[in-house]
Amino acid sequence: MNVDQIKKYLHDLCLISGLSGYEDEVRKYLSSQLDTNKLKNTTDVLGNLICTLSGNDNLPSVMLFAHMDQLGFVIKKIEDNGFIRIERLGGVPEKALTSQEMVIVNNKGQYINAVIGNKSHHATTIDEKYKVSLVKDLFLDAGFSNKKEVLENGINIGSPITYLPSFNDIGSNCVAGTAIDDRAGCAVVLNIAKRLLHEKNRPTVHIVFSVQEEFNLRGVLPVAQNLKPDVAIQIDLMLSSDTPDMINQGDIFLGKGPCMSLYSFHGRGTLNGLIPHPSLVNLFDENAKKNNINLQRSATSGILTDSSYVQLVDKGIACIDLGFPMRYSHSSKEVCDLRDLFNLENLLFHSITSIDENFSLKRN
Ligand SMILES: [Zn+2]
Repeated sequence: MNVDQIKKYLHDLCLISGLSGYEDEVRKYLSSQLDTNKLKNTTDVLGNLICTLSGNDNLPSVMLFAHMDQLGFVIKKIEDNGFIRIERLGGVPEKALTSQEMVIVNNKGQYINAVIGNKSHHATTIDEKYKVSLVKDLFLDAGFSNKKEVLENGINIGSPITYLPSFNDIGSNCVAGTAIDDRAGCAVVLNIAKRLLHEKNRPTVHIVFSVQEEFNLRGVLPVAQNLKPDVAIQIDLMLSSDTPDMINQGDIFLGKGPCMSLYSFHGRGTLNGLIPHPSLVNLFDENAKKNNINLQRSATSGILTDSSYVQLVDKGIACIDLGFPMRYSHSSKEVCDLRDLFNLENLLFHSITSIDENFSLKRN
C-alpha cells in the first residue's frame, strides 16, 4: 500500500503553524503543490484556496473541501516582566495546556518558541493539585525579561500562537502530530485533485482548502455562495472511540477505514448539525462495497463542521461529512492511521468519479 505521498504532504503540513485567520503559510504550501501539478488555483478575500476541475456539465457539480486552519491562541496582554497572557481561539482543551511547547508567530513570520508555565510542583498546594488551570490564569514564557524585549521581537497584542508544530511516527502505520485536524484532510484532498485532473468523464469538481473552521465554522461559506455546487463533501476527523476513555462513545476504530457521518449536532451555543443527503449516503455505501473498503459510521453530538452551514446556502446544497478516525482531538498530539487516509482517498476518488446520469438528488 503506497501511503508515501500522503505521508509526505501530511508531514510538511503539520510542521506549519497556521492559526485560524493566519493560514497564509499553509495556503502557500498547498498552492505551490497545486501549481507543480498543473492545477490552476485562486485565493479569495478570506484566504480560501480554490481549484476548479471542469467536467461534464450535465452532471451535478461537487465541492470537495477540507480546512487549512488550526486552533490556538492570540496574545491579549504582555506583562511588564515579559510574560504573555493569552486568549483562546477555537476549542482549546484547557486540561491539556500547562507545560505545552508553543510557538508565537511574529510579524516577520518567524516562530518564537515558548512554553505555557506550570506552577512548580514543589510549591503546589493540595487544593491546586487536582485543578485544571483556566486560560485566563495561564501565561506564556518565551524567555523575555521585559515588555520592550517582547515588542522588539515583532510580537504584540493579537499575535497568533499555536502548539509547537510536530510530526512523529507511532508504530508502523500511525502518526502523531499537531493539527492532524485537518491537515490530514488537506493531504487527502490534494492527492485526489491530482488524480481527478486526469479523469475524463466526471462531474465538475471544485477543490477547496478553507479557512477559519476552528474559529467560526463559516470560513468556506463565501466559496459555497459563489460556486453554488450541487453537492458538497467535507473532509475532517471523526472521533475514534477505541481508546480506554472513549468506550461507549461510538464504534469507530483507528485503522479500520474511513468514516461517514450520519448525524452530527452541536447544541452548546451553536445549535446546528448535519444529517447527510440520502443520495450521498448511498453513493459512498455502494462505492465502499464495490471497492472492498470498510466504511465506518459515525453518529455523534458535540461535533460540528462547516458543512452544517454550507447545506443552507442558496437553494440548499446536498452535503455529507466524510473523514478519518482520529484520537485525542484538539490536543497537541493528535493520532491517525495513514492506511485510513489512503482508503479515504480511494473511496472519495471512486465515489466522485462514479457520479453519472443515473445519480439523482431528488427526494423520494
Ligand atoms: Zn477539523
